[in-house]
Amino acid sequence: MNVYDSERMADMLIPLGYTITDSPDHADMVILNTCHIREKAEQKVFSDLGRLRDKRDERRTRGADTVIVVSGCVAQAEGAEIIRQAPYVDIVVGPQTYHRLPEMIAKATRAVHKTKKPGQKKGLGIVDVDFPVESKFDSLPQTAESRVAAYLSIQEGCDKFCTFCVVPYTRGAEYSRPATEILAEARHLLSLGTKEITLLGQNVNAYHGQAPLGTEWGLGRLIRELADLGVDRIRYTTSHPRDMNQDLIDAHRDVPALMPFLHLPVQSGSDRILEAMNRKHTSRTYIDIIERLRNARPDMGLSSDFIVGFPGETDKDFEETLALVHHVKYAQSYSFKYSIRPGTPAGAMDDQVPEEVKADRLQQLQDLLNEQQLTFNQKTVGTVQSVLLDRKGRQEGQFIGRSPYMQSVVVNAPDRLFGQVIDVRINQAHPNSVSGTVVTHEV
Ligand code: SAH
Ligand code: SF4
Repeated sequence: MNVYDSERMADMLIPLGYTITDSPDHADMVILNTCHIREKAEQKVFSDLGRLRDKRDERRTRGADTVIVVSGCVAQAEGAEIIRQAPYVDIVVGPQTYHRLPEMIAKATRAVHKTKKPGQKKGLGIVDVDFPVESKFDSLPQTAESRVAAYLSIQEGCDKFCTFCVVPYTRGAEYSRPATEILAEARHLLSLGTKEITLLGQNVNAYHGQAPLGTEWGLGRLIRELADLGVDRIRYTTSHPRDMNQDLIDAHRDVPALMPFLHLPVQSGSDRILEAMNRKHTSRTYIDIIERLRNARPDMGLSSDFIVGFPGETDKDFEETLALVHHVKYAQSYSFKYSIRPGTPAGAMDDQVPEEVKADRLQQLQDLLNEQQLTFNQKTVGTVQSVLLDRKGRQEGQFIGRSPYMQSVVVNAPDRLFGQVIDVRINQAHPNSVSGTVVTHEV
């Protein structure tokens, strides 16, 4: 979601005369688009800000200046507190108000020219962390960038209030964009050459958007309509088990463009912990969903998020998580140590798990998940996979693409195949990728 938001901010700023640069050394403005989901991410913001201030001071000795902007969920959660802790910051803007950036920047640049003196330490202190009634999507321009694999945000926010999570507070209430708006954005992406669209939302499968003729579409219907537009590959993330309805599961059976891979976070395999997390599903209901998905699409690759060391988690609870992982067999996964988030119910629970226990459990879980990922990758050796080449590799002539199962596929290919979906014979499995050779090249 942050990548999508960053791209939208760039789309908005390019008409103002900005171009993207890859280093703060040359930047007239730096936007730090931040994440608040775990404490570590938040701490990083302040250390990065310190470095940016030094960069800005150094640029000032050369007669240049840098506008420093903090956007994203840390901006939303901390607001003016960021200015108190880092007074040199010029603009703080939340995820729901970044469409107002051009006005804020105009204000900031006017102020920089008029009032800022060389050596002035204080930033401009512009803060906008509203949850406005107007949707930012109404004000965002269409992208002019052609992206082979593009993100499309269809849903934002969350009303589920898992007890560990800050998202409902930073991203606000659940909101689904109208379907016609999404289809228009998808048509535009297709006209720019996009081959793969990943539909985004904090709770993407809770999507229930206004549709033509006063109806409402769920995600399954939206996916079918997008496939009819001619999108080659469709993905969606992140889903919640509670919203995995039958129509969506059926879409995995019926829609060839819908990729056979799903990121469906379970968080824990212990029903006691799932209850304390307010997930409102059990390990059994989760496994049932996985079975129904595999019935619809037997080759489905699965991924999940896990939290270890949630308050009160015992060895037995943790073993239930390992048992669930053994049962499901994941293609890849993300796992985290529980991190106390301010203002969340779990942060105030008094049976917090000691750091060493969390670290030990994380290691065990990651060893198992890594082993499963390698096994999944090994199973594709010898098969031919359709791969969308969307990135350059590290070596000359090398490209990296995604298999239908989200594996990174490294392959040597002529430049003209960049941006194409090609057939690749997988020859080797690695822990985080596979490599292979092109089998079709007369495109
Ligand atoms: N909406 C998605 C997840 C969004 S947050 C869902 O419901 O699954 C992404 C992931 O960050 C979560 O799945 C969770 O595993 C992790 N996460 C969120 N809050 C956390 C916390 N306080 N400590 C550790 N991990 C956390
Ligand atoms: Fe956070 Fe996801 Fe739970 Fe919403 S459903 S509170 S985003 S973990």
